[in-house]
Amino acid sequence: MKYTAVIFDLFGTLIDNFSDEEYRKVLAEMASVLSAPSDDFENLWLGLFEERVTGVLESPVGAIGCVCQKLNVRPDNAQIENAARIRFDMSRRVMKLRQDAVKVLSHLKTEGYKTGLISDCSYETTVVWEDLPLAPLIDVAVFSCLVGIKKPDARIYHLATEQLEVRPEDCLYVGDGSSQELTGATRVGMSPVLIRIPDETWEDPYPNDVRDWSGPRVSSLTEVLALVK
Ligand SMILES: [Mg+2]
Repeated sequence: MKYTAVIFDLFGTLIDNFSDEEYRKVLAEMASVLSAPSDDFENLWLGLFEERVTGVLESPVGAIGCVCQKLNVRPDNAQIENAARIRFDMSRRVMKLRQDAVKVLSHLKTEGYKTGLISDCSYETTVVWEDLPLAPLIDVAVFSCLVGIKKPDARIYHLATEQLEVRPEDCLYVGDGSSQELTGATRVGMSPVLIRIPDETWEDPYPNDVRDWSGPRVSSLTEVLALVK
């Protein structure tokens, strides 16, 4: 086997990216139940990306509290719970599996590969993840908000390889390039591959590896199977 383990990103890789439009609609709905000004709420929420995905602020409740404080808005507990529920509902709704995700992961497991996940995400994602049919097919899942580190920090890759008991050199890393994850994977010695699904129009607003990537690339998860042989 060329690799011992295959490590995946989550959003835009094993599951769909959610639309910006839907996200903004949900943030407006949250602002409305909190009686907060919509545009300011959205801007502050998006501005706390780093704090939400590294768990400095537990999202959604901690982040809601922080944004409301900055806006000098004082919602009661019922309003906060309601806004948090709206955010959780969005995660349940948008975390849709790529159509070949279960098939590809099952195949990798059958063939004896170890499987990992490294995701930059907030707390909502970790809760919904547990109910996805992918969860039992991933040996080690590392979530940025739970370990306090995000990609492309070398330590988050090492957390995965240590738990998988593999060397980074023996890992194929598959991601859609968000969080400059492919650069990070290269730096620790993994073999990275960019996945971009045709027709997906989502634009990553944060620094990423997509535009300047000249390494290997696939347009579906199924194509990964040919790379590991
Ligand atoms: Mg991604």
